[in-house]
Amino acid sequence: MRSRWSDDEAAGFVAQFGPGWGEALALRTYSSRLLGAEPELVLHGGGNSSVKAPWKSILGEEVEAIFVKGSGLDMASLEPRGHPGLDLGYLRRLRALDALDDGAMVDQLRTHLLGGDSPTPSIEALVHAFLPGIFIDHTHADAVLLLTNREGGRTAVADALGPDVIVLPYVTPGFKLALAAAEALEARPGARAMVWAHHGIVTWGGTAKASYEAMIELVSRAEEWAAARRAARARHVTATGGARTGSDARKDGGADDRASGARLCEDVVPEARAAAGGLPAQIVPVVRGLLAGRTGDCDRPYSRVVTQILDDPHTLEALLAPGARETLVTPPLTTDHLIRTKSLPLWIEGLRYDGPAHPAERMAAAVEAYCQEYEGYLARHSADLPAGVETFDPRPRVVMIPGLGVICAGPDLGEAVTTLDITRHTIAVKTALAAEGVEYQGLPEDELFRMEYRALQHAKLSKPAGVLGRPGASGAAGSPAAPLRGEVALVTGAAGAIGTGICEGLLEAGALVAATDLPGQGLDTLLEALGGAFPGRILGVPLDVTDPDSVTGAFEQVVHAWGGIDLVIPNAGIATVAPLIDLDLERYRALQRVNVEGTLLVLAEAARLFKRQGTGGDIVLVSTKNVFSPGANFGAYSSTKAAAHQLARIASLEFAGDDVRVNMVAPDAVFAHGACRSGLWAEVGPDRMKARGLDEAGLEAYYQSRNLLKAQVTTAHVANAVLFFARRQTPTTGATIPVDGGLPDSTPR
Ligand SMILES: [Zn+2]
Repeated sequence: MRSRWSDDEAAGFVAQFGPGWGEALALRTYSSRLLGAEPELVLHGGGNSSVKAPWKSILGEEVEAIFVKGSGLDMASLEPRGHPGLDLGYLRRLRALDALDDGAMVDQLRTHLLGGDSPTPSIEALVHAFLPGIFIDHTHADAVLLLTNREGGRTAVADALGPDVIVLPYVTPGFKLALAAAEALEARPGARAMVWAHHGIVTWGGTAKASYEAMIELVSRAEEWAAARRAARARHVTATGGARTGSDARKDGGADDRASGARLCEDVVPEARAAAGGLPAQIVPVVRGLLAGRTGDCDRPYSRVVTQILDDPHTLEALLAPGARETLVTPPLTTDHLIRTKSLPLWIEGLRYDGPAHPAERMAAAVEAYCQEYEGYLARHSADLPAGVETFDPRPRVVMIPGLGVICAGPDLGEAVTTLDITRHTIAVKTALAAEGVEYQGLPEDELFRMEYRALQHAKLSKPAGVLGRPGASGAAGSPAAPLRGEVALVTGAAGAIGTGICEGLLEAGALVAATDLPGQGLDTLLEALGGAFPGRILGVPLDVTDPDSVTGAFEQVVHAWGGIDLVIPNAGIATVAPLIDLDLERYRALQRVNVEGTLLVLAEAARLFKRQGTGGDIVLVSTKNVFSPGANFGAYSSTKAAAHQLARIASLEFAGDDVRVNMVAPDAVFAHGACRSGLWAEVGPDRMKARGLDEAGLEAYYQSRNLLKAQVTTAHVANAVLFFARRQTPTTGATIPVDGGLPDSTPR
């Protein structure tokens, strides 16, 4: 690992933040970001850092202060305010206590902050306060975990990092660890760093640069040490003609694993494999459905998950390596990961279509067995469950399928991405250890339980869901601001005015949105317009609703990106204006293909996917007022939309058994969404303006004045009607909400 330190960049931080925050905090911010930029050091909010510096109160009195990273904040994007200041003198006096539980510790930290609106400091704040270093850096470096998570980890650290690095056995983070770390350093005052078994490494220094560079130097040394051991082992294996050592004997059958994995690759229905050789589109939705939590609420029975797929060549190779299961189905690298990954991944093999059980049945049985084991683990440790902490859903978060890849799940995209990144690093470390011929050793079960069910860790989860570096973008779990968190929607005809409005409404409600339309400028403009406000949460998918392959391909693309789909909005439609006697048959057929066949194909594909997921689903068809009250010269549109409407009603009859609700919204006179003019009105407008002798503004006013409420109907109104159904506010299917300001002739009957 190389140092990323640049004196010029450091000076830039001092120039930018120094005047407002002081030089120490400016440099602290800089080197924390450098640590955060290295995924091999910290991932998604892991690790922490501090600086001790004087602080002046409003009375002009100087206070000895410490600035510690806020709990769960991501180092890569830290601002100076991300290191809240605390009264250092007071915190040091806490060392006199024999014990301090988590609740009291957080209370002490919060009541000795120097700013009223500061974030809560890291769980390891007292470590930083009790150690004397001016700048202190703490990471969960992969290379250090590779040294400590093995039998004889202590010796490995001493051997790799030298005698002036203290090695502490595992100590529960918090007050206990702070005491242990301080005492250890006092016993060996000359030490330059400290390694905590199964946890990470701490370095310090008089300057930001010294502490940061000590971290990089020691981590590099750990990397080199392990690499040399792997190389030596590889040479030994080659020299002995691949003869197996004692530790390999345990892994006998590895060759079989590899063979069965290769078979598995071929056995899983080949046509189902995504083009890039990824997980088959049939498998992922089944797993996603099995991982959804059961809520007990009959209107919203599932709390869905979003999945991310790890299927790069390294991962696939690791899953098929001899003894892979023994290597990978082991506890996490550090307890920090528990709330994202659970203590063990689920391993499923033998998903063969020619085997004794259908893959879907095998997957269901595997998840069920995992849940039972998890319930057993909860029962074994129930005495340690803190009051007020609810147990997690028993379903796995990481599913390893040799031959196919790893499916990583989370309640929203941000958390699924975190789980994916942690899993990638975990596999790399465990595989590297196996390449040394050494067995992985994680923490014992009771400590894993204690950390998984620690109230402080749960506080991190209840924070607003960070989505790709945008904390709070989608609101907290179950919060009214994000009722569709964890749900995936697909909208057809998304580039049009109504489609764009619906996409925006769904995104604001917390859903992930696959915006589909014909490829081209319309779709590009939509992605540009919404991609900035909802980064990572809108996916542009080219889709021609008249082409069955295109429909299937688009659904598969969404499955590969997020795991499945819960909400489908068939909205694509085209219009033409002509009296029946002049209606061109080919033009009529074009409308029929898009408005009727397109709806049919999308309805059918949605139903197939919903069946595979087994967690119900919602379909909201964008119908039209014309279905109930057709207009002259508009026969092609009115009749084809009526057919689509009728198909949706049939779908409500046929799909209800799978808990799929199909409803319709019937807007009238929606002219535009911002700058995006309605394609329908581009077609119809000129004829209507001509017939009524009105200009564009006059026509809009005319439509507004003809409804009972004198309302101007907007795309946001249509989106709200879609959301009413999507949120399952009532047990309703086969129904239509008019969004027209009140038109007696077109009230659904
Ligand atoms: Zn830590």
